[in-house]
Amino acid sequence: MENKLSDFCTCNDRACPLHPANHDKGCSLCMAKNIRNKEIPSCLFNAANGYPSKDGYSFEAFAKLILGGKTDD
Ligand code: SF4
Repeated sequence: MENKLSDFCTCNDRACPLHPANHDKGCSLCMAKNIRNKEIPSCLFNAANGYPSKDGYSFEAFAKLILGGKTDD
């Protein structure tokens, strides 16, 4: 399934049922899950880091990445 609502998505987890390639609701299902779990979506880790996080997707992991703390060594 192709989803033009979120064709900018860089998440490579196509097996995830929330991935926009697997439904017609764009980012909404992914963002709802991230907000519920207090996490940052993988597209923002990809944008900041160039690759997905190896330390999880918490607000704290993203803050460490942005503020210069190494989270993926
Ligand atoms: S919020 Fe989720 S679905 Fe939307 S672009 Fe980012 S990773 Fe993809």
